[in-house]
Amino acid sequence: MNFFKPINKDGTKQTSKFGYRMHPILKKRKKHNGYDLANSGEVELHAICNGNVSYNDTDNKGWGYYARLYYVIEGIQFIAYYAHMDRNKKNIFNDRKIKKGDIIGYMGNTGESKGQHLHLEIRFYDSDVKKWKAYDYRNPDHPYVINYFVDNWYKER
Ligand SMILES: [Zn+2]
Repeated sequence: MNFFKPINKDGTKQTSKFGYRMHPILKKRKKHNGYDLANSGEVELHAICNGNVSYNDTDNKGWGYYARLYYVIEGIQFIAYYAHMDRNKKNIFNDRKIKKGDIIGYMGNTGESKGQHLHLEIRFYDSDVKKWKAYDYRNPDHPYVINYFVDNWYKER
């Protein structure tokens, strides 16, 4: 599986990984279900693969203005969430179908966010329990390993 990098701008750093951490705003130990990627200035966010995109600006999860990219690989359903996007640049994409590499939006600082960054979260549909689950599969031989790629694409800060 060849994913497109969600951010191509030089200097993009991982500021938080998947796993338990102290939440910077809530000051509680909380599981972080995605990656935080940060950079400054105008930062384009790209679709990691072909799929269907929808936007939400009314959540109460602290994600601010975010995009959901729905895709299916080998029968498994996934959603990539792009959170904290810049809401001044919304509705740049009206068609729900999106191609790998297309711009989904721009990095922002909306919702529970202390500085401009992207929270990228992948969930897959677990048909055994009929629930969407956050995804942290890091085996490079596995075809769906976006997290493995994220670790290799962006250095930690
Ligand atoms: Zn995050």
